[in-house]
Amino acid sequence: MTQSQPAQFSFEFFPPATNEGEIRLWDAIRELEPLNPNFVSVTYGAGGSTRDRTLRVTERIVNETKLKPVAHLTCVGSSGTELSEIINLLLSSGVTSLMALRGDPPGGLDKPWEPHPSGFTHAVELVELARELGMKEIGVAAFPDKHPESSSLEFDAEVLAKKQDAGATMAITQLFFKPDSYFALVDRARAYGCTIPIIPGVMPLTDEKQILKFAQLSGSEMPPEILKYLKEGSTQPVEVAKRGVEVATNLSAELLAGGAPGIHFYTMNRSSASREVFMNLQS
Ligand SMILES: Cc1cc2nc3c(=O)[nH]c(=O)nc-3n(C[C@H](O)[C@H](O)[C@H](O)COP(=O)(O)OP(=O)(O)OC[C@H]3O[C@@H](n4cnc5c(N)ncnc54)[C@H](O)[C@@H]3O)c2cc1C
Repeated sequence: MTQSQPAQFSFEFFPPATNEGEIRLWDAIRELEPLNPNFVSVTYGAGGSTRDRTLRVTERIVNETKLKPVAHLTCVGSSGTELSEIINLLLSSGVTSLMALRGDPPGGLDKPWEPHPSGFTHAVELVELARELGMKEIGVAAFPDKHPESSSLEFDAEVLAKKQDAGATMAITQLFFKPDSYFALVDRARAYGCTIPIIPGVMPLTDEKQILKFAQLSGSEMPPEILKYLKEGSTQPVEVAKRGVEVATNLSAELLAGGAPGIHFYTMNRSSASREVFMNLQS
């Protein structure tokens, strides 16, 4: 893979539950805005729990910033009619880009997925709906280290190609730690005729709890040497943050050098680490 276009950067936020969280979110948005990201995305809570907050934050981004918001939406707990209503609300507030996701099983990751009785079974159906209703850009999830419920990496690639056929215009990956997992995913997807940009998702891990939590949640194995390096610094918060930024910078640089179209930063509503990695990549 070789890179032909300038790299594109984007930042992901979650809709906070408290006023304090809202202030921190908006501080982060304002601090990252001058970097002119390609877009910023706002997640949708597990179980559909943040419907109104996701709508409110994305609408405010449209009205008060120069940023392009991408609203995440999942199939969890909503009928097809309710999903149509949400998409139409987003469109009427000026949000024209959607991340169309299935969502995790509402009962927990160890429980089987059960769709809403009048809802969707797979994300691909939400992609179709979003396209029919007029969403201009539709993003979907991709999994360098395999989706936990999927039978194989090959099947994941087939699913990604189906999402493209249904109308997806880009994919963003789950967190991962080894560049080769990303490059292999891209090769598999291309072999199934999937040509949309597949943007790697990178999270600068800046505290020990975060490191352990996300390594576990993503289902992606952190290389032991990286885990050791990050944990060695964990007695000093400043040092672990510095190492987290360094690890994320190295990963991002390798991904971009190998042809990744850009980097999607999982910011956790904090700007400094993502901004540092971004700045390191510019220099
Ligand atoms: C970038 C990114 C952003 C995310 N944002 C959110 C968020 O905001 N809120 C949230 O709750 N979750 C979010 N998630 C998590 C996501 O909802 C879960 O990973 C979920 O388990 C899978 O979602 P999906 O869209 O990939 O589902 P799907 O594409 O439906 O895949 C789910 C499973 O079904 C299988 N499958 C898919 N299509 C078919 C088919 N036609 N036939 C048989 N099997 C099939 C797949 O192999 C996979 O195992 C995000 C994930 C990523 C990578």
